[in-house]
Amino acid sequence: MLTDYHLHLRSDELDATAAEHFTAANAERYRDVASERGISELGVSEHVYRFVQALEVWQHPFWILNARDDLDAYCAFVREQTDLRLGIEADFVFGAEDRMANLLEARAFDYVVGAVHFVGEEAVDMDPYSVWGEGPAHMRSAEEIWRRYFLTIGEAARSGLFDVMAHPDLVKYWGAERPRPQGDLRRYYEPAVEGIAEGGVAVEVSTAGLRKRAREIYPAPEFLQMCVQAGVPVALSSDAHRPQDVGADYDEALEMLERLGVGELCVFEQRVRRLEPIGAEPPAGPARAIPR
Ligand SMILES: [Zn+2]
Ligand SMILES: [Zn+2]
Repeated sequence: MLTDYHLHLRSDELDATAAEHFTAANAERYRDVASERGISELGVSEHVYRFVQALEVWQHPFWILNARDDLDAYCAFVREQTDLRLGIEADFVFGAEDRMANLLEARAFDYVVGAVHFVGEEAVDMDPYSVWGEGPAHMRSAEEIWRRYFLTIGEAARSGLFDVMAHPDLVKYWGAERPRPQGDLRRYYEPAVEGIAEGGVAVEVSTAGLRKRAREIYPAPEFLQMCVQAGVPVALSSDAHRPQDVGADYDEALEMLERLGVGELCVFEQRVRRLEPIGAEPPAGPARAIPR
């Protein structure tokens, strides 16, 4: 089986409305591309901060700007009008664990993708609010930012809020455009992998990094290898925000998984995880005529 659990039915642009994108026809477009690419198990995981209920968890200015839709309407749409698994991409907000737990537990998700986009109040993968900003408030080194980032991933994984840790080395998002610590990076990965193993969550292998400035799969092979050695299972996703990116660059991801000896992927239903052997589904359609 192949999976793609980290899908967004719309782009991150504010004008990408729920009314326009949360439609059966749009979900069908994602399903069609998935079928062409042999991916049978699909789930949608919209950003929690696009929903007004997220403001009960955190009042970050970025969230206030984005919180426009109703979370329960989204859940009802996915259940009633699509054949996709119901997920959500939920941020880890330090100190707001109880409030996030209340939001998540009140809905019947198939899985929750946990994400660290912010370290404290600052974002690692976007401007503005950037942790990489300039000026006296931003005297932190790349080493300090990386250290805090992976510590936060570890905390998030231990929180019990999530089933999968998304793009677990997102801090490399900007590639060569932002400073990066030198040498063997495993010293940064260690607390993150430890938290993921202890928290009993899966690690996401995401091809999205290949489409960003990082130009690398999330996570780095060394990070994934440490996870595999710690017995952490893998969830495979593209983080597509448009149909054509469903299962994008999976050949590269599958090659990396094979190289590291990963033969199974996580499948989720009602927040219960099981493992299925990796393998593409043969393309559907009429049986081919046998040439004489
Ligand atoms: Zn994300
Ligand atoms: Zn995402």
